[in-house]
Amino acid sequence: MTITSDVNRVVADLRQQVCDLHAQLTRYELVIWTAGNVSARVPGRDLLVIKPSGADYDSLTADDMVVCDLYGNLVDGVLDPSSDTAAHAYVYRHMAEVGGVVHTHSTYATAWAARGEPIPCVLTMIADEFGGDVPVGPFALIGDDSIGRGIVEVLRDSRSPAVLMRNHGPFTIGRTARDAVKAAVMVEDVARTVHISRQLGTAPPIDASDVTALFERYQNVYGQGGRHTEPSEENQP
Ligand SMILES: [Zn+2]
Repeated sequence: MTITSDVNRVVADLRQQVCDLHAQLTRYELVIWTAGNVSARVPGRDLLVIKPSGADYDSLTADDMVVCDLYGNLVDGVLDPSSDTAAHAYVYRHMAEVGGVVHTHSTYATAWAARGEPIPCVLTMIADEFGGDVPVGPFALIGDDSIGRGIVEVLRDSRSPAVLMRNHGPFTIGRTARDAVKAAVMVEDVARTVHISRQLGTAPPIDASDVTALFERYQNVYGQGGRHTEPSEENQP
């Protein structure tokens, strides 16, 4: 099976974007060796673009990125897709608004996942970005839909774009792959800061009404709009 010619250009652009976004994972020190992956939905198609399995970050090229269907089957590409492709695909199948998914084992966020402890909303930036505590997802074995199911179960009804999968690490989602990468960077940053704050005492939570006020302002007013605003025209399928 090969992809049809009318999506070739869109897929080529996404291969480049997804390749470039993997450089952000190393830039922010969210990954070591070949761990971690970024994917993007092909707008309007039941396809995704993702990093190949076991690929060295230093030598990744756009052409290495593989195209899969939303069941994780390889559609176009030379290399095997990431071993986490089934989880990404499950998220795209069940969350229509998601255009990008990221997974890392970034140190501090993964340390919270190891304890199975949500990152409490004790900073305004956590309220801004995550709309409350960063939640923990269930323990799940790799290889079938169970990781994807766990991610969707938690994030479907959450304001958070990040979930700490228990005993594993963070998965993040976004309207675009870039938004999902931002969430992966931010979750590691707040995981580290709250961890450090815990060393000298307790960190009191922010009142729920203030969390909502902060989240609404940040997502809808601040900057160029967050993931809960309508997609701009150039991002429409
Ligand atoms: Zn993993």
